[in-house]
Amino acid sequence: MLAALEKREREIELSRQALREKERMLTTLMSNLDGMVYRCRNDEHWTMEFVSDGCYHLTGYRPEELLHNSHLSYKELEHPEDRARVREEITAALLEKRRFFVEYRIQCRHGEIKWVWERGVGIHDEAGNVITLEGFVENVTERKLSTQALQQAERSFRSIFENATEGIFQTSPDGRYLNVNPALAAIYGFSSGAELIASIGDIQHQIYTDPSRRAEFMRLMRETGVVTNFVSEIRRKGGDHIWISENARAVQDEAGNLLFYEGTVEDVTETKLNQEKLEHLANHDPVTGLPNRLLMNDRLRQMMLSAQRSKSIVAVVLLDLDHFKLINDTFGHNRGDQLLQTMSHRMLACVREADTVVRLGGDEFVLLLSGAGRGEAMSQVVQRVLQTIARPSQIEGRELSVSCSVGVSIFPRDGRDVQTLLKNADTAMYKAKEFGRNNFQFYSPEMNTVITERLEMQSALRSAVEHKQFVLLYQPKVDLVTGQIAGMEALLRVKDEKGDLSLPENFITLAEETGLIVEIGEWVMREACNFNKSLQERGLPAMRVAINLSARQLTRYDLVRAVEQALLHAELSAEYLELELTESMVMHDPEGVIAILAQLKALGIQLSIDDFGTGYSSLSYLKRFPVTSLKVDQSFVRELGQDENAAAIVKAIISLGHSLDMKVIAEGVETEKQMSFLLENRCDAMPGFVFSRPLSAGEFALLVVRVSGGGGGKFSLLRQLCASLNDESAQESAVDITNF
Ligand code: C2E
Ligand code: MG
Ligand code: MG
Repeated sequence: MLAALEKREREIELSRQALREKERMLTTLMSNLDGMVYRCRNDEHWTMEFVSDGCYHLTGYRPEELLHNSHLSYKELEHPEDRARVREEITAALLEKRRFFVEYRIQCRHGEIKWVWERGVGIHDEAGNVITLEGFVENVTERKLSTQALQQAERSFRSIFENATEGIFQTSPDGRYLNVNPALAAIYGFSSGAELIASIGDIQHQIYTDPSRRAEFMRLMRETGVVTNFVSEIRRKGGDHIWISENARAVQDEAGNLLFYEGTVEDVTETKLNQEKLEHLANHDPVTGLPNRLLMNDRLRQMMLSAQRSKSIVAVVLLDLDHFKLINDTFGHNRGDQLLQTMSHRMLACVREADTVVRLGGDEFVLLLSGAGRGEAMSQVVQRVLQTIARPSQIEGRELSVSCSVGVSIFPRDGRDVQTLLKNADTAMYKAKEFGRNNFQFYSPEMNTVITERLEMQSALRSAVEHKQFVLLYQPKVDLVTGQIAGMEALLRVKDEKGDLSLPENFITLAEETGLIVEIGEWVMREACNFNKSLQERGLPAMRVAINLSARQLTRYDLVRAVEQALLHAELSAEYLELELTESMVMHDPEGVIAILAQLKALGIQLSIDDFGTGYSSLSYLKRFPVTSLKVDQSFVRELGQDENAAAIVKAIISLGHSLDMKVIAEGVETEKQMSFLLENRCDAMPGFVFSRPLSAGEFALLVVRVSGGGGGKFSLLRQLCASLNDESAQESAVDITNF
């Protein structure tokens, strides 16, 4: 019995021990829980019957302050804005006899607000009434805040997505849109993102005008995972085309599988067009719209490459409009530009599509002719260009003809790079100019020496101007009626270092082309006037000095003023000066020339037409020119006595001149026979080797001194004197009187 009792007590003790152990374990567990275990009544205050130690950590209040609402109730802990909701949710769960979960804020001891997560159950009595609530409240502030932050971020990203002006997209690798923003829809011409997504099932063919762009996009994605500033042309909903720039990347899952592409789209149409415009501007001439030098270099290089492959040739045709500057100066730049445009259209009409017409600048153009053509075919094209350019065009109601000079170099024969080809075409072009313009020349290596010589001569001429190496010789003109010296013609020479004299044929053209003739001509005028005056001052019979003029002096500069000044400076009376012009000079612009000649005439000087018979004179104009004499060209005089025609021409000129009340002078008379023919036909005067070569100033003065002192037959003394001066040995003594 006792044993049974003892056994029973031991058993009770053991179970007590087990209970205590359980309680200890529970306590340990609860105190280590990060949160608060509770049991409360289902009353207005949520009156706490038990709270675990976690209460303090969670709320800042000690458990005993909360128990039985001793300091404050749990309801007071709940955030006022959340209280109603908490009660609602818990009541609903209790009614349905299910667990409750509720998230809300509590106000902790020091005013801190925490988010908590409460879960619990109602404990019911047998009748089913709720006796207490048991549960667990846990601090979830951190998680809650980060979720909130996440939501906030998501909201702001969504707003960016929705409101961005750039298009944003996600596309599947098989070419569909997964997600697009309104901006992308607008760029592509759709009214909404949804419409875009629904309408486009094949980006490659529906969006890109060139489907290979999508393939390129995918290739870049495969190789680098990104595309940047990927510019393509796309088709909008309405069918019009625009240019876009894409920046995108490939998005993969953790295992590295491609999920989709995402990126942005910008409409760069305007930039692209501006860029094209700028490129066009940089590569084209604004006046004619033709490619410029920059683009020419490119094209020529390409043409050379393809010619190399196909073993064909390329012709570089350099074309220079003749006397274009004159047109520009006369009619103004606007008209000049018009003419350039007309000419560029004409050139384009002469070449094939594959050829290029370039404006190098000014009046220079280049035609790049490609193809299998041999030189012969090329010449045909060039010939055609020459002809079309020369067709008259209308400027300000006036018909105007321009010609051009053309030089051609051929790749690969004349050069294998742009520069050499151009340089050689240029050389050939100069040759064409030399041949009197309006023609074309193919380059040949010998041309280079010609050009070099020309350049050398040019610099020699400049230096002659600088160092005053010019000399005037004077050729007497004999009056065939009186047998006296009727005047003299000043003839220009250049003296080189050795003292040798160079003839005008060697330098006049060059001086005209370079413009140096104006300066030289002015010197000639002053020098001749001074010399003539010095003869008069020595008491010798007054006579006229004739000087030769160039076209440029007549039209491009104030000749009248220059003449006036030369006369003034020399104090020479105007009647002792004569100017010689050629037919071509006066016929070039007869009306303009008549005006100038009238002014010259008004000064009191004499005018004559030189080399008459070689140019084209209009008789109606001839009558109106205030000219006092015609000089029959040497070529006819030379033929006198040999050629019937020449004799007839000379006779005709003499009678023409006389009928116009002009004196007729025969140039270049060398023989007795010529002289007697001229005498017979009443020619008025003549210079000529038959009397004298051109003489130095000193020799000429000596001649005049002697003639004026002498007597004798009509020509005998004169001829004697001239002969002595023209005689080599006599020259020595003549030099002593070179004070002129
Ligand atoms: P031009 O005015 O017809 O001059 C006459 C040329 O015939 C001169 O040649 C003269 O020496 C040459 N001559 C004269 N008598 C005879 C003759 O009996 N037989 C032959 N064979 N020739 C004769 P030059 O001095 O060589 O002058 C050639 C041309 O150069 C001139 O032709 C003239 O057009 C031009 N010239 C000469 N001096 C000047 C000048 O100061 N300024 C300009 N612009 N041109 C000039
Ligand atoms: Mg002359
Ligand atoms: Mg002449």
